[in-house]
Amino acid sequence: MYEKLLSPLDLGFTTLKNRVLMGSMHTNLEEIPGGLERAAVFYAERARGQVGLIVTGGIAPNLAGCVGPHAAMLTTEEEALKHRVITEAVHKEGGKICLQILHSGRYGYHKNLVGPSPLRAPINRFVPKELSSEEVWQTIEDYANCAALAQKAAYDGIEIMGSEGYLINQFIVTRTNQRTDEWGGEYENRIKFPLEIVKKTREKVGDDFIIIFRLSMLDLVEGGSTWEEVVYLAKALEKVGVTIINTGIGWHEARVPTIGTVVPKAGFAWVTKRIMGEVNIPLITTNRINMPDVAEQVLQEGCADMVSMARPFLADPELVLKAIENRAEEINTCIACNQACLDHTFEMKLCSCLVNARACHETELNFHPTNAKKKIAVVGAGPAGLACATLCAERGHEVHLFEAEKEIGGQFNMAKVIPGKEEYAHTIRYYSTMIKKHGVQLSLNHRVSAEELKAGNFDEIVLATGVTPRKVAFEGSDHAKVIDYADVLYRNKEVGQKVAIVGSGGIGFDMAEYLAHDNEHESPSMSVSAYMKEWGVDMTYGQGGATTMPKPMPSPREIYLLKRSGGKHGAGLGKTTGWIHRASLKMKQVHHVSNVTYQKVDDEGFHILVNGEPQVLHVDHVVICAGQEPLRELQAALETAGQNVHLIGGAESADKLDAKRAIYQASHLAAKL
Ligand code: FAD
Ligand code: SF4
Repeated sequence: MYEKLLSPLDLGFTTLKNRVLMGSMHTNLEEIPGGLERAAVFYAERARGQVGLIVTGGIAPNLAGCVGPHAAMLTTEEEALKHRVITEAVHKEGGKICLQILHSGRYGYHKNLVGPSPLRAPINRFVPKELSSEEVWQTIEDYANCAALAQKAAYDGIEIMGSEGYLINQFIVTRTNQRTDEWGGEYENRIKFPLEIVKKTREKVGDDFIIIFRLSMLDLVEGGSTWEEVVYLAKALEKVGVTIINTGIGWHEARVPTIGTVVPKAGFAWVTKRIMGEVNIPLITTNRINMPDVAEQVLQEGCADMVSMARPFLADPELVLKAIENRAEEINTCIACNQACLDHTFEMKLCSCLVNARACHETELNFHPTNAKKKIAVVGAGPAGLACATLCAERGHEVHLFEAEKEIGGQFNMAKVIPGKEEYAHTIRYYSTMIKKHGVQLSLNHRVSAEELKAGNFDEIVLATGVTPRKVAFEGSDHAKVIDYADVLYRNKEVGQKVAIVGSGGIGFDMAEYLAHDNEHESPSMSVSAYMKEWGVDMTYGQGGATTMPKPMPSPREIYLLKRSGGKHGAGLGKTTGWIHRASLKMKQVHHVSNVTYQKVDDEGFHILVNGEPQVLHVDHVVICAGQEPLRELQAALETAGQNVHLIGGAESADKLDAKRAIYQASHLAAKL
């Protein structure tokens, strides 16, 4: 099993125990008081989980390079000594760790930002100051100093962030480098910046220190590097002393999703494969590799020498250990939702994980074995009930889990049928395994009543009964044309060619995506070539940046997405994924209509006012996605009878409900019951 993945990688002066790199993630831990100590526990847990090599979140080599106003830097010996808590903790667990050096350049979200040229990034409101030639040399020196300090802090190496559109990337391409001095113009001049950084760094740190270079192999922006340039730079980097080349895919300003859940598994491994054989140092491939079988396949197909996974280690610190012990079914899989990791990072909040609320909270959220075993009833096997039941059982309680439907999963059974959200099935598989592992007594097709619960002599009763779709109150809402999202996604009701969706929140958007696909064609998220075609990635690399015209599959339906308020549709969607949903529906020519007043549905269609003007949409169906109401009908009777009742997830509140909150609440309750 996982023969290649679990084989060691000999780097000459040191050996990695397997081919798994935990990729760099900015968790915001380093920026909070006591954060380095918390980061030490976070990384040590992943090292104990047997990951081959860890890379820290990006650390700036100087003030201008910070990603935000209070971002972490490594510029002094004093700071280096503080990092020892991390390296010691990782080494104690037998792990290895590199520090990532990241200079944000024109992506810096502060006033001191710099760049090769004074060109504002489309995703930033600040304009960078152009570095003078002397300042470029000083910045190179700062990188090398930072690497030397990392060595003092006992890191096993460093990763130089040369991709995603950060400073080094900005020097490499003419899109952002319009200089006429020794750092601009010809390609040789533009790549002098990264090559000098590596040269100076190697001089300072000696031979026995890992230098990973994260090379942008596919910029996905107009005016990006050509394939020939990428290969040329890879070879030049090898010559100046890089130990390993890691893959970077897409600048942050690119309009192609590169890590969202819509991206097919290992969707960009083909890019790294193109460089295999061009250099003699190991290559790492990355993006949307989330399980050991996917990683093994990538290696077996000769796409790379090693794989990088980042978010999967938030979801499950023991991913590699479980692969080693043949327990892949027990892996809590990252579903690439970005909701608790990247979205949090961009909102300057501490990073965590939707499916693992402990991530980055290892020092404060723990599930210790109980010394007072209780009999606990959990009602509802959606994400909240599943998390609570399995964690309580893991702690040693006797847990009875009741589910009214024929299967576990709750609303995730609807999420997983949305094209691009197929991965959500992993969460249900994970909990199914945990139910068996920890001996949860599961009763399916069992809508439990208050009487039954009262008679069960439970010490604690957890209501995780979720929500029910909110009813609408316009004339004709009982017409046969009117159905709700659960009718379509769970009860498989047929939907006609012309359809209106009432409500443009997360579920409304998902419904539009679902209806914009037909059953005959596979979802582009399941096929790499279909995905690249849909989003305009030129797999032949015909021009710099490898972008081309997107060719989406046409929608089989005419779809109207309606909302009562004015303004942009989907404004409340995730910070890092909302644009993907909006762009996808735009490609499918879904009509977005705002300022709508719903009047009535009859045989003719849907009568509405748009900005006060009457209109009739001649639709076959009106699908209601107008929010949800908590389902907590058992609460009053149980509380009146003096039972210990706890509400979590949708049952507690349907307002702004998502699975992140449901699992978070469930985990915190399970830790203290
Ligand atoms: P639910 O998932 O509603 O589960 C409640 C369970 O309780 C149900 O299985 C129900 O049958 C059972 N039940 C109720 N009463 C009883 C009873 N008396 N006895 C026994 N069983 C009972 N969230 C995200 O975070 N990210 C997403 O991308 C996302 N996408 C979504 C896409 C769709 C199409 C939908 C519909 C939802 C999506 N959600 C998403 C929302 C997310 O699924 C919910 O927030 C989450 O499922 C709420 O969890 P819960 O356990 O509180 O409730
Ligand atoms: Fe993966 Fe979502 Fe967890 Fe982020 S929050 S690590 S994307 S499952």
